Amino acid sequence: MKTNKFYIVASPRGFCAGVKRAILIVEQALKIFNSPVYVRHEVVHNKYVVDNLKKKGVIFVESIDEIPDKNIVILSAHGVAKKVLDKANNRDLKVFDATCPLVTKVHMEVLKYSKQNMDVILIGHKGHPEVIGTMGRFRDKFGGNIYLVQNIKEAEEIKIRQPNNLALVKQTTLSVDDTKKIVLQLQKLFPNVVLPTKDDICYATQNRQDAIGELAKISDTMFIVGSSNSSNSNRLKELAITKGVTAYLVDDASYIKNEMIKNSKIIGISAGASAPEELVLNVIDYIKNQGFTHKRIKTIKEEKVSFSIIKELR
Ligand code: SF4
Repeated sequence: MKTNKFYIVASPRGFCAGVKRAILIVEQALKIFNSPVYVRHEVVHNKYVVDNLKKKGVIFVESIDEIPDKNIVILSAHGVAKKVLDKANNRDLKVFDATCPLVTKVHMEVLKYSKQNMDVILIGHKGHPEVIGTMGRFRDKFGGNIYLVQNIKEAEEIKIRQPNNLALVKQTTLSVDDTKKIVLQLQKLFPNVVLPTKDDICYATQNRQDAIGELAKISDTMFIVGSSNSSNSNRLKELAITKGVTAYLVDDASYIKNEMIKNSKIIGISAGASAPEELVLNVIDYIKNQGFTHKRIKTIKEEKVSFSIIKELR
């Protein structure tokens, strides 16, 4: 029977190179050292991934103090403040750092600027572990300060001690469009602000947002597979809504209710950088069972990025 109800799937979507690397580090540590393996904070922000690793013997903690001596600890993909890394290294623990190399790049920028006695503005979301980690890489002993700006209003009101000795860095998973506006506002106030030579918003965030932009042109409803604490998944949902689409963030198909799709004609499906493909397939199955047929669209950008893992765990 022919149907006039379709679903389309974003490409690229789901796991990025940093998330794949972080999960592999934990899995390899389990394989080599056996459980328990401790991970400080959710290694990536996805409930399914975290629950699966728990079943395999991973113990997630929020503080290094919770880990007994002589154990393995892995630091999450979001990165940590220097004092957390120092604390782990100064204990009788074996430490593996699963910080995404693209977050480490931002840490290095912040460290460099602080050593040059510059002030730094970080655009990001207060309380997100990546932001806490990046702020905690700034060394204020050299005389500079680091400031957090979350939105346009804060960008308009910010007071900087050294407006002509100022650099800007970003959280890696921000909305590309919103951040552009914040940067423009900051440049208006501080024309000499030094910007990153290569954008701090990572390739995976950019590509997934671009793909949502394309999907939004043809979908009336969209499901973003991802957990509620995933920054980049939330940005995908917000972007779809900004483009006029009814969008939902769902951990898996069990979150979809019939009333969400009863008037839909074309459903777009994507996934945040920490959401596994099996959950996307689970959502696709559900949508198919509701009488929607697949409509193919072209890939926005082929992704070939991969990061190798720590030598000892290969
Ligand atoms: S979203 Fe970007 S910065 Fe975050 S882990 Fe993935 S590649 Fe790294």
